[in-house]
Amino acid sequence: MMEKKVERPMETKATHPGLQDKPIEAGLQEKGRRSKRGGRRLVPPPPSSPAVAAVMRGNTANDTSPEILLRSALWKSGIRGYRKHLQHLPGRPDVAFPRHRLAVFIHGCFWHRCPKCNILIPRTNTSYWEEKLRRNVERDQRVFGYLEQLGWRTMRLWECEIRESLDQCIHEVGEELQRPSASHLVSPVSRTQKQ
Ligand SMILES: [Zn+2]
Repeated sequence: MMEKKVERPMETKATHPGLQDKPIEAGLQEKGRRSKRGGRRLVPPPPSSPAVAAVMRGNTANDTSPEILLRSALWKSGIRGYRKHLQHLPGRPDVAFPRHRLAVFIHGCFWHRCPKCNILIPRTNTSYWEEKLRRNVERDQRVFGYLEQLGWRTMRLWECEIRESLDQCIHEVGEELQRPSASHLVSPVSRTQKQ
């Protein structure tokens, strides 16, 4: 039983020599193992620079800090009635207002290709990154489309907007909530269909 303990880490080390101590590696490999669910998987390469590693590390949890910033600012400005990561909605929006049928996504500038920041694709493992980010953008478009078909309005806030002009973001969410919702597009039945 002693050998059992040792074997795993040794194998892991051999996969990406030199990076075995970085927590990001462990995280990525975890993800790789778990994703049996479907589709061709892109196997992430080891981060090529400290900058890339930092960006990748920033994307680990659900409650990334821009989300916390936004939600606490919403709360402070008296905006209520939102839920986070509603499972039954396409894309599990970061913040959703079921009564107003408004889904708000907070998108990381690197991962979703913010046009304003226009962060360059890493020069190492370029084809991996191009493919990965292209898929992210396509998925975003699909998710927005699905939600709109369900009668939801969608709103995207970029991470940089939240960091640089949080007040403006809150203002925009507030404005959107004031607008008449598009719920007339959807039959009342669909409200009860979800689990
Ligand atoms: Zn940005």
